[in-house]
Amino acid sequence: MTFDSLGLAAPLLKAIADAGYTAPTPIQAQAIPAVLKGGDLLAGAQTGTGKTAGFTLPLLHRLSATPPVKNARGKHMVRALVLTPTRELAAQVEESVKTYGKYLPLTSMVMFGGVGMQPQVNRLRDGVDILVATPGRLLDHHMQGTLDLSKIEILVLDEADRMLDMGFIHDIKKVLAILPPKRQNLLFSATFSDDIKALADRLLNQPALIEVARRNQTNDAIAQKVHPVGRDKKKELLAHLIKSGDWHQVLVFTRMKHGANRLTDYLNDQGISAMAIHGNKSQGARTKALAEFKSGELTCLVATDIAARGIDIDQLPHVVNYELPNVPEDYVHRIGRTGRAGCQGEAVSLVCVDEQNFL
Ligand code: AMP
Repeated sequence: MTFDSLGLAAPLLKAIADAGYTAPTPIQAQAIPAVLKGGDLLAGAQTGTGKTAGFTLPLLHRLSATPPVKNARGKHMVRALVLTPTRELAAQVEESVKTYGKYLPLTSMVMFGGVGMQPQVNRLRDGVDILVATPGRLLDHHMQGTLDLSKIEILVLDEADRMLDMGFIHDIKKVLAILPPKRQNLLFSATFSDDIKALADRLLNQPALIEVARRNQTNDAIAQKVHPVGRDKKKELLAHLIKSGDWHQVLVFTRMKHGANRLTDYLNDQGISAMAIHGNKSQGARTKALAEFKSGELTCLVATDIAARGIDIDQLPHVVNYELPNVPEDYVHRIGRTGRAGCQGEAVSLVCVDEQNFL
């Protein structure tokens, strides 16, 4: 199948060709026509499946098919809202909107907390068609009267399961209450817990259903290995794996923030460049670590699950579970960052005796 057969506008096909994509991924092949029809969608898809383009492309197509909605000052009003659980994911989604929308006269903005309000207020004032936001900051703007959501035509909840895990259900309900009732709703989730089903029932009207990877199913392109090791030998084993394997880019998951910091210090002492990202780090420090890791300057990024949510790095060769997560969904999600888009990846778990049950 080709993108041309999906019914997308020429400026989008040109941007897709620029990105080097030759064929739609399975989620794209199903989601794009469904969203173009204008109905609601419930999609089960994990990071790495191409889900972002799966909703961004048809969203851009639909918005570009009708004239912009302008306010009294002649500025574009927000017509599409994408909610994400984390700042990093919001930034990445908005990056995709820009990439795929580069030949269309539509503007986008990313909005999240932890940074000043005023630059966001200024940006909103200039007019925005597509807003990608985390729920808390979105509500802050709404309460201050700096954001008008009355013209929303399309709502996307991305990684809805993680939004619920992170306790955003009340914020989501508040956002739903301020949106116009007549709109298209798209819900993306990697897993379908009862809470997600309840949210979908409330939000979606006769949705099209798409599921590309079954729950807790890992990708065949990922080689999964387990190294049994004593707890106090883990850091030495990790340094050994990185050095002997000549690894240049490895994402390491730890369970705790202080564990991430200690491990980072150890690796740096061993001459392996490492940085940690977790909830206690400032947005600036997280952005810097991620940028250096993506560019290849930094060998090792040490992350907790929440901080790493939504990190999108192409063709990441190695993922290490320094500690196993408590739930299988987190394992699937962690290692899903390797082995993408047809590349072989390796996921290594360092497992000590008291983690046997998790294994
Ligand atoms: P996502 O699941 O949205 O996080 O996307 C995973 C990665 O796949 C991103 O880096 C995209 O740039 C890439 N990607 C998305 N669609 C395609 C496609 N049709 N062909 C090749 N790569 C793609």
